[in-house]
Amino acid sequence: MNALAPIRHRSLHPRLARRRPAGHPDWCAADHRCGLGEHRAEPVTLTVPGRGVVVLTRVLAADGRQHVEIRTDVALAAGDGAARAHLTHILIELEGHLRRVVRQSHVRT
Ligand SMILES: [Zn+2]
Repeated sequence: MNALAPIRHRSLHPRLARRRPAGHPDWCAADHRCGLGEHRAEPVTLTVPGRGVVVLTRVLAADGRQHVEIRTDVALAAGDGAARAHLTHILIELEGHLRRVVRQSHVRT
């Protein structure tokens, strides 16, 4: 698989997004994922087939704080040395990414 291949994206169908009971934010999935005062959106999944997946879920916590949960699964390079080097690369990239997206949270629109 080419690492530069298009990333596949999957999110909630717009027709399903309109169907939710009262009391939930308009972006909330309003299903079994909500509970104990927490609301969760339908996850958005980015996939590079056979290589990696990123799943983002918007969350409104019971304390009113809004955040995104991000789960990542990346296939590591084969062999222990290559896997360790790959992990180092991932860590460096994620640190830079984290710093960039945290900066964005202070941008006002
Ligand atoms: Zn909800």
